[in-house]
Amino acid sequence: MNELDSELVSGQLSALGYRFVASAHEADVVLYNTCSVRENAEQKVRSRLGEIAQRKRSEPALVVGVLGCMAERDGPDLIRRMPVVDILCGPSELDRLPALLDNAVRTRASLGGEDAGARSAKQTALQGSASRRTATLAAAADRLELLDLSRAISPTDHNGSAYVRITRGCNKFCTYCVVPNTRGAEVHRPPDHIVDECRRLADAGVIEVTLLGQTVNHYRFEHGAAVTLRGVTQPQKGRAYRGGHRRDPYRGERVTTFADLLKRIHDEVPAIRRLRFVTSYPRDFGDDALEVMRDSPRICRYLHVPAQSGSDTVLQRMNRGYSVGEYLDFIDRARAFLDEPEIGRPLLIAGDMIVGFPGESDEDFDASVRLLERVRYKNCFIFKYSPRPGTAAYTRLPDDVPDAVKRERNTRLLAAQQTISDEIARAQIGNTLDVFVGGLSVRERKQRPGRASDGVGLTVGGRPAQDDADQITRASTAQMTGRTDGDLIVLFDTPDGREPGDLIGRILPVQIHQASTLTLFGALVGDRA
Ligand code: SF4
Repeated sequence: MNELDSELVSGQLSALGYRFVASAHEADVVLYNTCSVRENAEQKVRSRLGEIAQRKRSEPALVVGVLGCMAERDGPDLIRRMPVVDILCGPSELDRLPALLDNAVRTRASLGGEDAGARSAKQTALQGSASRRTATLAAAADRLELLDLSRAISPTDHNGSAYVRITRGCNKFCTYCVVPNTRGAEVHRPPDHIVDECRRLADAGVIEVTLLGQTVNHYRFEHGAAVTLRGVTQPQKGRAYRGGHRRDPYRGERVTTFADLLKRIHDEVPAIRRLRFVTSYPRDFGDDALEVMRDSPRICRYLHVPAQSGSDTVLQRMNRGYSVGEYLDFIDRARAFLDEPEIGRPLLIAGDMIVGFPGESDEDFDASVRLLERVRYKNCFIFKYSPRPGTAAYTRLPDDVPDAVKRERNTRLLAAQQTISDEIARAQIGNTLDVFVGGLSVRERKQRPGRASDGVGLTVGGRPAQDDADQITRASTAQMTGRTDGDLIVLFDTPDGREPGDLIGRILPVQIHQASTLTLFGALVGDRA
């Protein structure tokens, strides 16, 4: 989600004449797009702000902004603690960033010199108390839709793959999570806007689209309730409807469900050769969506469906809204619909687990290990619980699992997952898989200078990084990275005589000859793209 926000902000600022430079050190304005979900992500930003504070002492006209969830959650307190920050802009206010930036830059210019650092007015745009605004207000005041709609799509700006947001915010209120407070109430974008964005991306050469939402499969747009402002149909606040449903009874003309949306994109934009979506919420998956996935060859057989725990009591404390039995029932339904290894279309599932949640006993943890082994995730993001300020767990549930126990459980669960990931990866040896080539491998990138983007900083005043294609047309061979339909990572070397830049953004057959836990290694065997 943050990656897409950074892209939209970059496009917006480029259109206004800002130039991007290769490094933060060369910039007049430095913006950090932040995440608050994990503590270490916030620590990274704090450390970057500490570094840039030193530079600002000698360059007081430098403008520093913090965007995203950390800005929203910490609010003006962040400026009090880190006065180097001039701009705070929450994730639901990003459309206001150009005005904030303009004010900050003009203030600096008019004050000049030492005064600029000492007296600049701080610029903030935060949701604050409006975060749980009413459905009507959400629709009428949702200028953010215009930010998505104004997305600049250029044939040279992508590597053949793009994200498309379909919902924003979240209504679930898991007790450990800051997202409902930082990103606000769930809002669903109008389906015509989404399909049109996919079409424009396809026209610009994109062949792989990932639909984004915090609970992406909760998407549901009621047409009778749509609000139109100045000719633009506005997004719609998420309507409550019972989870665990198999089919939406109102599907049809009045309602566009997630299943309908998948089918529309698949059928109306056939140039999108791979369609996937993240992140799914287990309780909200109806059979209708699974049927559409089964019957649509260009929808990937991949699901990212976090369980978070294998214990019902822990799931209740997490307010996840489902039981272990309901989660496993969903996994079984998904496999019954979608797992077809005999025709080369296995269903691969990724998960998330938290260990050491308040009150997690040895038995609760053992249940998590059993669930992980039963589901057999292709990979699982495993996190040690850390209390996040602003969440219900932070105020109501004592962080009572000792850190040593959390570490030990983390190691055990990682080991269990590694065994499963190894087995899934090794089973691919000898197979020829269609791989979407995303670019240079991490190893290759490190060996080549000039990559400035680290996923945290956005530097305004020049372009952050050259496209992979620009960099590698000069190389004779390079290690490339790509992904299969089921999201397995594949590395391969460019063959002799092939221009590496030509491979990026294409789906190519790669024969797998080696596998490690999370990576397959192979060789290009042809070019059917
Ligand atoms: S579903 Fe839960 S974990 Fe996911 S974004 Fe919403 S509140 Fe956070």
